[in-house]
Amino acid sequence: LTDPLLASLAAIVGDAGVLVDERDTAPYARDWRGRLPGRARAVVRPASTRHVSEVVRACGRANVPIVPQGGNTGLAGGSTPDASGREVVLSLARMNRIRTVDPVDNTMTAEAGVILAHAQEAAAAHDRLFPLSLAAEGSATLGGNLATNAGGEQVLRYGSARALTLGIEVVLADGRVLDALSPLRKDNTGYDLRDLFVGSEGTLGVITAATLQLFPRPREQVTAWIGLDSAAGAVRLLSELRAALGERVSAFELISREALAQVLRHVEGTRDPLARPWPWAVLAEFGDTSAPADLRGAVERALADAIELGIVRDVALASSEAQAAALWHLRDHIPEAQTREGASIKHDISVPVSRIPELIDRAGEELLRRFPGVRLCTFGHVGDGNLHYNLSVPAGGDAGAFLAQEDTIHAVVYAHVQALGGSISAEHGIGRLKQADFLRFKDPVAVDVMRAVKRALDPQGLFNPGRVLPRD
Ligand SMILES: Cc1cc2nc3c(=O)[nH]c(=O)nc-3n(C[C@H](O)[C@H](O)[C@H](O)COP(=O)(O)OP(=O)(O)OC[C@H]3O[C@@H](n4cnc5c(N)ncnc54)[C@H](O)[C@@H]3O)c2cc1C
Repeated sequence: LTDPLLASLAAIVGDAGVLVDERDTAPYARDWRGRLPGRARAVVRPASTRHVSEVVRACGRANVPIVPQGGNTGLAGGSTPDASGREVVLSLARMNRIRTVDPVDNTMTAEAGVILAHAQEAAAAHDRLFPLSLAAEGSATLGGNLATNAGGEQVLRYGSARALTLGIEVVLADGRVLDALSPLRKDNTGYDLRDLFVGSEGTLGVITAATLQLFPRPREQVTAWIGLDSAAGAVRLLSELRAALGERVSAFELISREALAQVLRHVEGTRDPLARPWPWAVLAEFGDTSAPADLRGAVERALADAIELGIVRDVALASSEAQAAALWHLRDHIPEAQTREGASIKHDISVPVSRIPELIDRAGEELLRRFPGVRLCTFGHVGDGNLHYNLSVPAGGDAGAFLAQEDTIHAVVYAHVQALGGSISAEHGIGRLKQADFLRFKDPVAVDVMRAVKRALDPQGLFNPGRVLPRD
């Protein structure tokens, strides 16, 4: 390697740990949605925290920006380099060791590059549950989950990545290691530095490991596909089910007819679980950690009451694990089906749960009036007030003309979200794709405080410059 920086990186991680050929670096430079073409100066793949620390020091001395990357499934354009060819991608993929699982403390300490599904399996091997769960879990890593404060399908009961993180290990911009790995549930010694790095999208430091909370594994699980007339009915149903079943309601996903129709069209082997096409569906999951509890009977009674009240139209209860998996398969393949359907414009928004029906009504009415034929492919984690409020190009419409309206469409949706007291990014973060809207809608005082934190922790602007906050 003739480039002195790359030679020094190779001296740290070994020749095989530095990729420079564009054929090797290209997959690391392509964002999941293919929206932001990028080029990496190199990809460096450290195998230990010490490696990361030395790599950060070397890049700091050369004043070369670092883009931390896990599974590269992020949806905000934060994990890939820009087009300048200057930025080094720091991939945590080789740091994939589970350091310890402690069934007494109910914790797991694992490195940042551990794939989420592997972390779930390691917990299960000790008869414990690591509840973070999302459709990209076969590729997404713990480091990326924490850096984006990932949410997913079990937030309703267990909270998002932040709530599951007890301790964290981070390499700072000067190469020092902040070792805040700890199984403590209670620790009020000064500012909570862990919470500063969770959700920081790689802009404040490189997460190298974390101590995570584990839970008892559900002994009985029930999965239901529920047909409804309206989103308002879904919100009402959630409240009825929580009243009847308490925290045994662990997931509550809303799916519009358009979203399901796209899955049925494009994903092989799928079928509608119900005999008739209802305008909305809910995929709900219930879990009980104490056995025997007759959870199924309790769920059936609660749903029968909801039918009686006229909230629910029809229900299919999974009667085997395979059937439950088939229901989740429908939910998890909505993003892929939407990609196959053609051009799309997406929003990852949240509002108070009670205001979801208003959001759907108000935004839908304005969009259909101003952009005739646009298809609303709405779905999301309604129990958390989080909707993936996505639009597909009108059937037979021109993709270019549709996408040219993206900024206007975002403005319409975000105005309704703001009016209802919501957030323009519920779980995917800001990255590069949402920066303009973030600056427009976020409280300027909050943005100022964030800038001060960034300057204090990363004065050189080494980590993910221009992501979340604009460059200084
Ligand atoms: C099909 C699909 C479904 C999804 N569903 C959900 C969902 O339900 N809920 C949800 O919240 N998200 C979801 N996502 C988004 C994404 O999977 C998550 O945000 C995930 O947590 C990202 O993990 P990753 O390892 O791929 O991170 P990456 O994409 O590699 O990185 C994401 C961000 O984190 C930073 N980063 C990564 N690793 C580190 C590290 N070790 N230290 C510091 N910074 C780091 C990157 O710089 C970048 O800014 C989904 C994505 C896809 C493609």
